[in-house]
Amino acid sequence: MSEKRKYKKRYCKYCEAKVEFIDYKDIESLKFSLSERYKIMPRRLTGNCKKHQDMVAKAIKRARAAAFVPYIVSRKEVINNPFELLK
Ligand SMILES: [Zn+2]
Repeated sequence: MSEKRKYKKRYCKYCEAKVEFIDYKDIESLKFSLSERYKIMPRRLTGNCKKHQDMVAKAIKRARAAAFVPYIVSRKEVINNPFELLK
């Protein structure tokens, strides 16, 4: 019934991939748990287990501190600024 949701199955991707350690430099795997505005996705959306969500959150915070992941993304970068057309 809920097959059409953005995150179809509620399994932990990191468990499936048997990830034991999430490297903060490995942004590709962190992206699973980042929204398009680089916010940490809540567990109810990603289906991550508690263990991996904690690891991801820690890794993302580290990645932010090391500037691999931005803290904030300006609106411009998310959607092409519609006001630009008015200039
Ligand atoms: Zn897991």
